Amino acid sequence: MNILILGGGGREHALAWAIRQNPKCDRLIVAPGNAGIANVAECADLDILSRADVLEFAQENAIDFVVIGPEAPLAAGVSDALRDAGFLVFGPSQAAAQLEASKAFTKEICDACGAPTAAWARFTDAASARDYVTAQGGPIVVKADGLAAGKGVTVAETVAQAHEAIDAIFDGEFGEMSVVIEEFMAGEEASFFILCDGTDCLPIGTAQDHKRVGDGDTGPNTGGMGAYSPAPILTEALQDQVMARIVRPTVAEMAARGMPFQGVLYAGLMIDNGRARLVEYNVRFGDPECQVLMMRLGGQVLDLLLACAEGRLADMSVNWADDHALTVVMASKGYPGSYRKGTPISGLEGLSETSFAMTFHAGTATGNGQVIATGGRVLACTGRGATLAEAHQRAYAQVDAIDWPEGFCRRDIGWRAL
Ligand code: ATP
Repeated sequence: MNILILGGGGREHALAWAIRQNPKCDRLIVAPGNAGIANVAECADLDILSRADVLEFAQENAIDFVVIGPEAPLAAGVSDALRDAGFLVFGPSQAAAQLEASKAFTKEICDACGAPTAAWARFTDAASARDYVTAQGGPIVVKADGLAAGKGVTVAETVAQAHEAIDAIFDGEFGEMSVVIEEFMAGEEASFFILCDGTDCLPIGTAQDHKRVGDGDTGPNTGGMGAYSPAPILTEALQDQVMARIVRPTVAEMAARGMPFQGVLYAGLMIDNGRARLVEYNVRFGDPECQVLMMRLGGQVLDLLLACAEGRLADMSVNWADDHALTVVMASKGYPGSYRKGTPISGLEGLSETSFAMTFHAGTATGNGQVIATGGRVLACTGRGATLAEAHQRAYAQVDAIDWPEGFCRRDIGWRAL
């Protein structure tokens, strides 16, 4: 079959690498792709946020299956346009993608279906939000909701810090704005990935990531500096609890509201004393969590994504190996602040590409016959093994073989589980 993947990061390289291994895959196109993806698929220049462009491209190339990697095309309704035109698509509708796009929407769904999450309140003016925070006391969490989402989440230690965060949100130049104030949840965070076909659900793995830029979880937040799977804290019993109390009720509630969720539900969880509560949902694979999941799932992932898109998940199961995977992100020096673009990377040619060791590209291009860095997060060196220590050793062996003077990485990925 002819498959189109939308996206051009490490997540999409990992998806393409895994899907390519499945004999059902004849032609594989990734738009826009990157220098590493070009080794496993054709790359196409395409505006993936344009419904019309994506639709025309899919028609012209006789695409049988479209896999949507990032959130932006989902929020832009690209999956709806493709599905309306009869294409088979992996990824939720624009309406269902609100589970990621709107924090208030997700909180309402949780309340309606009884899924455990932090107590919350939503305000559209600063004065009421400030009064509420004063009454609740710190620590407390302040989240921007609405058109400026992504602007941020502040975990405030004190009422004063929370007031500052509220003022910053309402002082912004973002037309209609609201704020969600949440109870602070203590505990350990982990991510759980579940395929949903609108009705049925199938867990496909757990992971933990490292958000801070520096060793020892220090410095500013990033898109993710590394991850490993499985997450030991998410035991089988806890996964069952999350499926029963959070995921299945959410999927049923979405279906009841006429917006069935089809795609991957990425549940960010806070675990404390054997109890899991929802922090947030994302409606696509995480990056770099996708790299460790794909490393463990391999070619079967195409069958799973197809079953998801066709509403056949009830008949599916995952063929698990007793393995571990770990990925180390290499980023441009200066990231997540400003950094130089176009710096050359060498040593990639010598790396072996196997089901135990893969360097996925996140932000690369080819320039003057050489691989150059084009983004903040650039490579994801990923290892798989019988133990986490073995996966760790294989991931860092790739890091150490890469010659990129303008790059850096954390040296302690996986410390919590190792
Ligand atoms: P991301 O970029 O991670 O998807 P986001 O902007 O969607 O972030 P959230 O995931 O809701 O925001 O929050 C970001 C982080 O803030 C969480 O990963 C968690 O560490 C922390 N956090 C959020 N809500 C709470 C809470 N209620 N209690 C404690 N910590 C929280």
